[in-house]
Amino acid sequence: VWNRCLQVIREIVPEQSFNTWFEPIIPLRLQGNVLTIQVPSQFFYEWLEENFVHALRRALDASIGRDGQLEYSIIVDQGNERNRPLAVQMPTTKSPQNAKPDNVNPDILRSPFQLKNLDSMDLDSYLNPTYAFDNYVEGDCNRLARSAGFAVAQRPGVTAFNPLMIYGGVGLGKTHLVQAIGNYIKNNYGDKFVLYVTSEKFTNQFLNAIKTDTLRDFTQFYMQVDVLVIDDVQFLQKKEKTQEIFFHIFNHLHQSGKQIILTSDRAPRNLDGLEDRLLSRFKWGLTADLQTPDLETRIAIMQKKLQAEGVYIDDNVIEYLAHSINTNVRELEGVIVSLMAQASLTRREIDLDLAKQTLRNIVVDSDKEVTIDTVQEMVAEFFNVTVADLKAKSRKRELVYPRQVAMYIAKEKTDLSLKSIGYHFGGRDHSTVIHAIQTINDLMTEKPETRDAVTKLRSYFK
Ligand code: ADP
Ligand code: MG
Repeated sequence: VWNRCLQVIREIVPEQSFNTWFEPIIPLRLQGNVLTIQVPSQFFYEWLEENFVHALRRALDASIGRDGQLEYSIIVDQGNERNRPLAVQMPTTKSPQNAKPDNVNPDILRSPFQLKNLDSMDLDSYLNPTYAFDNYVEGDCNRLARSAGFAVAQRPGVTAFNPLMIYGGVGLGKTHLVQAIGNYIKNNYGDKFVLYVTSEKFTNQFLNAIKTDTLRDFTQFYMQVDVLVIDDVQFLQKKEKTQEIFFHIFNHLHQSGKQIILTSDRAPRNLDGLEDRLLSRFKWGLTADLQTPDLETRIAIMQKKLQAEGVYIDDNVIEYLAHSINTNVRELEGVIVSLMAQASLTRREIDLDLAKQTLRNIVVDSDKEVTIDTVQEMVAEFFNVTVADLKAKSRKRELVYPRQVAMYIAKEKTDLSLKSIGYHFGGRDHSTVIHAIQTINDLMTEKPETRDAVTKLRSYFK
């Protein structure tokens, strides 16, 4: 039975993990539909359960049948089997949601099924195969980080970029980039053991290893990794014990020429609560930051995303969105997703009106920033003109002044660039916006009416 299981598993999991995780298993007995296998440690058992539950389930299906069950027997010291084997009831369905067995003796360990996104995740390395260089749009904002990442991907452990540390704010593409590196290495160097882990998960595994007295397994496991990707190291701040073990693993890997890739949401110098000796190692290799993408990159990212989704959206809508959202890529994607949802729910085409409406809802919902549309609406109402007037080509005095005030408020209350503000005012040049801002500035010192108007308008936006 066990041989049949191994056959199935061998087909599913990569050779590297097969050798590491399945070779050492000793089949003990089969009683009825319950197969008992012996594993070397608690940590080993947890790793199997966390990473290979799908493979094991399939193996049981093929060898015993849908009602096949698995029990683990864990070796404690040299050959001493635990008195009572830890039994794990394998669920009979594959779906993580309804997989929880509900009639199990509480003494019995259950399959944890902690993984989200089980189907899209590569269970061997924890890499998500959808993150690739191909769909990582290059721009000024990420050029250094991306090309350093690509160099590392091509020659892991060999370049001077070891460790490679990528930092930048939320939603700017850190996880995407480091996973792309990992995937590239996995696809091109089949024999390398690539592992992606968040610092949070690393910490939890470490704490668990202490609790279950399996620290040695934990360290040994990490020491056999060829390419270690640790995401969000800022999470290690003030966690001295975790830092200590990580320091040892880091040194071991680095000395053996293994590649280490790190990300952080802030620059290393701002990682306080991290031990100096660890910090100084982070600086051994290359540190590269990710910036907020500029307009062209935002447009390119959206086009790529839409293309991947097979959705067509008119260029003027894309341009409008790219001009309006300049915080981070995740928000940009969020808006596209809502837009597609809106369009399909209301059976409307995705046009400029729908885009504006969606954007307004999102911004109102999250109570975040002031949109350019709101600024224009308020200013138009204040001066008794229309939004169309503000955008029109007309240079009539009674329109030029409200338009300049609106640009001034837009600059102050949104964080759009001058170029984007110009775009929202009938496609005007950024120099026109600069001129408007200077004019209103001057008028505010000279004319009380202007000062009052601006003060009132400002007060509308918190
Ligand atoms: P972070 O880890 O920095 O918070 P992520 O890597 O999770 O950010 O990126 C957020 C989203 O934006 C992801 O869906 C990612 O694919 C996308 N993204 C970020 N940068 C780019 C880029 N340069 N090209 C394409 N997609 C990107
Ligand atoms: Mg991330």
